[in-house]
Amino acid sequence: MDAKIVLLPGDGIGPEIVAQGKRVLEAIATNFGHTFAMAEHPIGGNAIDDFGDPLPQPTIDACKDSDAILLGAVGGPKWDDPTAKTRPEVGLLKIRQELGLFANLRPINTFDELVDASPLRREIVAGTDILFFRELTGGIYFGDSGRRPHESGEEAYNEMVYSTGEVERIVRLAAAAAKERRGKLTSVDKANVLEVSRLWRQVAGRVVKEEFPEIEYEVVLVDAMAMHLISRPKDFDVVVTGNMFGDILTDAASMLPGSLGLLPSASIGSDGPGLYEPIHGSAPDIAGQNVANPLATFLAAAMLLRHSLNLNEEAEAIESAVSATLQSGHRTKDIAAGGTSISTTVMGDLVVQQLG
Ligand code: NAD
Repeated sequence: MDAKIVLLPGDGIGPEIVAQGKRVLEAIATNFGHTFAMAEHPIGGNAIDDFGDPLPQPTIDACKDSDAILLGAVGGPKWDDPTAKTRPEVGLLKIRQELGLFANLRPINTFDELVDASPLRREIVAGTDILFFRELTGGIYFGDSGRRPHESGEEAYNEMVYSTGEVERIVRLAAAAAKERRGKLTSVDKANVLEVSRLWRQVAGRVVKEEFPEIEYEVVLVDAMAMHLISRPKDFDVVVTGNMFGDILTDAASMLPGSLGLLPSASIGSDGPGLYEPIHGSAPDIAGQNVANPLATFLAAAMLLRHSLNLNEEAEAIESAVSATLQSGHRTKDIAAGGTSISTTVMGDLVVQQLG
């Protein structure tokens, strides 16, 4: 396969971890006989410094012309001035908008070797394997908002809106993923209170019944889901939900494995390139020290191969190499629990070696 992959290293530890991610993708290309044309483009704070814009037009053009995008992270104290004209995060929001990325995928897996770092007991959390689909471009974060006078001073409002089409397209993606996994889909809403959720539940139920009759389907209220995630996370396979509920639930779920440096995420649309990244930020406190954990970026690269390039075997090769490297006891500082640790680049060497 010939594929164009855009690399957006970004700020802080971004360039260090994306450099290692690039090596892993190169190893996959060599081992499996593919050609990946990989070009780097600026985004975030460094792009503000160099071009006065967190997402310069040539970066947008390159992304639109690519098959998939691997992002590091953006932001840092240097660009935190609240009076600044623009901010690094604007680059992220804009690239998602430009590419129509309406679905955010977040796998929550535990690695057996690290499960004792979880805040939950091993018997509750070990074996957890959830894939969240969070709607990313609609709902309350994008509805009409404002303030108006009120007898007590003023009042503020945010409108929550979802259309049939917006629900259909994300439920379809989630149900298709469930079919490829363990065949179970959970839709999370607040249909006992919100009209928007009642539409969501109606549409989701219809899509599953008509198009995916073979999968096991359940609906769960968001408040109950918050409890189930902590008490019985192993019971879930694919979970689909709206923007705000997904924002909160995926952050809560990201604590389950006990290591932020191991979790990837993907943002995809109906067609066109998807955007793949670790869920952690730019970690300015450790930037430039060659100590950042690059494994979440490697797992994001695996998602890129699976979801944008349809290269399942290659994705599994990366996931197995990461697992094997952890199994042989190698740890970056963040997951070493005070024990011996290795650098970002040595972790890259070891995973590339595992890939053969
Ligand atoms: P963070 O995720 O960058 O860091 C939180 C803590 O985890 C820090 O102690 C950091 O050293 C550690 N950490 C994070 N990733 C690590 C890794 N791969 N290896 C080892 N340790 C790691 O979150 P923060 O400190 O709240 O944010 C720092 C900056 O990142 C802010 O400017 C924030 O806006 C930005 N941010 C960007 C994104 C993104 O680009 N998608 C996401 C979250 C935060």
